[in-house]
Amino acid sequence: MQSEDYHISKIAELIKASKSDFYHDDLINYIITDSRKIIDAEKSLFFALKGRRDGHLFIHELLQKGVSNFVLSDAQFAQKQHPKANFLLVEDVLAALQLLAAGHRSQFNYPVIGITGSNGKTIVKEWLFQLLSPNYQIIRSPKSYNSQIGVPLSVWQMKPQHELGIFEAGISQIGEMLNLQSIIQPDIGILTHIGTAHDSGFLDVNQKITEKLLLFKNAKWFIHHEKDLNNFAETLPGKNIFSIGESQKNDLRILEIKQQNQFSEIKLRYKSREMTIKSRFSTLALIDDVLVCVATMLILNFEESVIKERVLNLSQVQMRLELKAGINNTTIIDDSYNSDINSLIIALDFLQQQNQHKKRTLILSDILQTGLPPDELYKQIAALLKTKNVDRLIGIGKDISAHKQLFSANDVFFDSTDDFLEHRERLQFSSETILLKGARDFAFERISQILSQKIHETVLEINLNALEANLNFYKSKLKPNTKIMAMVKASSYGSGSFEIANILQFNKVDYLAVAYADEGISLRNAGITMPIMVLNPGFNSFETIIAHQLEPEIYSFSVLDGFLKVLEEKQLFDYPIHLKIDTGMHRLGFELPEIDQLCSIIKNNKNFCIKTIFSHLVASEAVEHDDFTEKQIRDFRAVFTSVQRLVNYKIDAHIANTSAISRWPDAQLDMVRIGIGLYGFDAAIKKGLQTVMVLKTTIAQIKTLNKGETIGYGRAGVMPADGKIATVKIGYADGYWRKFGNGKAKMLVNGVAAFTIGNICMDMCMLNITGIDAQEGDEVIVFNEQISIQELAKIAETIPYDVLTHISARVKRVYYYE
Ligand SMILES: *Cc1c(COP(=O)(O)O)cnc(C)c1O
Repeated sequence: MQSEDYHISKIAELIKASKSDFYHDDLINYIITDSRKIIDAEKSLFFALKGRRDGHLFIHELLQKGVSNFVLSDAQFAQKQHPKANFLLVEDVLAALQLLAAGHRSQFNYPVIGITGSNGKTIVKEWLFQLLSPNYQIIRSPKSYNSQIGVPLSVWQMKPQHELGIFEAGISQIGEMLNLQSIIQPDIGILTHIGTAHDSGFLDVNQKITEKLLLFKNAKWFIHHEKDLNNFAETLPGKNIFSIGESQKNDLRILEIKQQNQFSEIKLRYKSREMTIKSRFSTLALIDDVLVCVATMLILNFEESVIKERVLNLSQVQMRLELKAGINNTTIIDDSYNSDINSLIIALDFLQQQNQHKKRTLILSDILQTGLPPDELYKQIAALLKTKNVDRLIGIGKDISAHKQLFSANDVFFDSTDDFLEHRERLQFSSETILLKGARDFAFERISQILSQKIHETVLEINLNALEANLNFYKSKLKPNTKIMAMVKASSYGSGSFEIANILQFNKVDYLAVAYADEGISLRNAGITMPIMVLNPGFNSFETIIAHQLEPEIYSFSVLDGFLKVLEEKQLFDYPIHLKIDTGMHRLGFELPEIDQLCSIIKNNKNFCIKTIFSHLVASEAVEHDDFTEKQIRDFRAVFTSVQRLVNYKIDAHIANTSAISRWPDAQLDMVRIGIGLYGFDAAIKKGLQTVMVLKTTIAQIKTLNKGETIGYGRAGVMPADGKIATVKIGYADGYWRKFGNGKAKMLVNGVAAFTIGNICMDMCMLNITGIDAQEGDEVIVFNEQISIQELAKIAETIPYDVLTHISARVKRVYYYE
């Protein structure tokens, strides 16, 4: 087996790059595709992928950060003035990355399990890890890294000390799987489930299955559920096929599934013997996932007693990292379900993005089963924490404590979670961001419960990956040099303030815009340093606007005069301002006849600098008003030209809001202002945006009522037949409109639609759950991708903006990142 590091010359050979002379034959340990995520610059190789943003554009920045090895496809960026750097030129950078990973994979002879399917990939991968890690040193994909880029990055982590690899592969269109197959080269293949997800990339289900099965073409074993491939007529891949199902011909035959108070009992037949497996999971989809795990263990020759015991102990898979409010003005990042180096790196990157507190603390348990000698492991961890700006480490566990000399003197160590809980008063958590990262055995959920603020059981969950995906969706629609101003007014349309702003700042949006100075000040206090425009600066706020380096929208002569006076008093020059032109909205802005007078003031003024000039479209989404929109754009261009002529610096022009980005691409100009699109809504876009927000509540009580009994105030609800109702913890004071009452709207109770019955109350409302299997305490979905906010808005005779911004502050926001 080779050493873990590769010389860059060897990599050049593997990826067939055109470069033979190396200034310095560097050793490479890290592959990076994101300029923001560097661990050890000297040992890193950057792949300039042409994704949403062209990686080539970051080469300059990376050189400055000390990276000196690059794979690129555009020779123009191979900077000759940097003779110290190695530039490997290839035709296709992604293909090169995949080739390198495939070459790396080929060195190892230990078994690799490859998983694909529409749902359940990550659960099966994590469960197999739980089931098999007592016997094997396992390397597995971090989180759900299963894409064309995620798979090579995961497989790159394979090391000689491992004994088993588990990788997931996800595809969304035809032609993708063979690449992943050549990288993973699975010995054991698992198909979890075939559903309807991502169907748009395929002609039909048959084509989708055929493509997915390519992963297993050289596998020794292929495990699947009979029902998923029932109508699939072609030959199945794999030297040995292992099928699961009810009919007799299956290798693992399901005889009976019995559900009993919180447990399910699954009676199986395998090679003419019967066995009964007990599991704490009872939904059928999860039982399917349990069974592919059982099949894998059978193939690996585990004894029945071991299988039974470990399956019973399987715990829930929590892949996401949650950001929530903690005690004493802290922010908690809860990633307390697993701990390995790769997921620690992801979590530390997320911690680093959070700027609301200066201080960053990491509570970290022993990292188990890495296969590395502890000395080496904790040396790596200590180096990692230095690069990621962690101010204080609290180490929990005997191993990490035994290596305390590797960490800073003010770091604290405890032998166990109990030990920590007993002494926690001493630690004085306050005004800091705390990342919790613990292996399952350390039960860090106990720490999370103590440090987090109690949550009123109605929560708005905000999916930060989806928000990023939506941002990237719009980036892909923009012309190359168009900038982005993200509208985060009204607490980012109800979703949150600094939490959202941190993500946008990290993603290098160019500007933020808030409605009032106060909102801008909160963002500054939370560590947001990027430019912020204030749409509606009050006369009393000019001083604080300047004190916080906020940039006012100047929309009238009186605002201009007022602000100029303050600038003159303070003897400030070139202060950034933004001019608002009214081209038809008739809300704020200079009107067209006023432009000449405006120009006379602008000319020769030294106190301010016009950063941008902008206007707002009133109906960019509506075909019937396209003539009007066109006129707005034309008038605006004329005003812009006449103002730009007066100054000798470049002013940025912007007029497009969300819907205009796709409908009026010529109006993207120098910048666009994205609002509601970030949060997943765009009247002009049918496909491609993701749902960012999910509102959830819980059942407080269930009642059995007879036909004709009445429900709620005014006796407005009447039981249509004998049945059951559930009282849930959300009412109009939370932003659940009174118009949703009396059967107008529905919620999802354990996945089944239940309509409101009776009037909505202030803090609660009732649902008719007749025929639905539910218990008190069960979670209820108020809106998500199935029950859309558009649908609710329609019922309330309003628009999504209105519904979103009415979700009250007492509904806690929980942010998560997968
Ligand atoms: C709110 C707002 C936007 C964003 O509009 P969306 O339709 O949400 O994209 C853009 N410009 C101005 C001036 C706004 O007030």
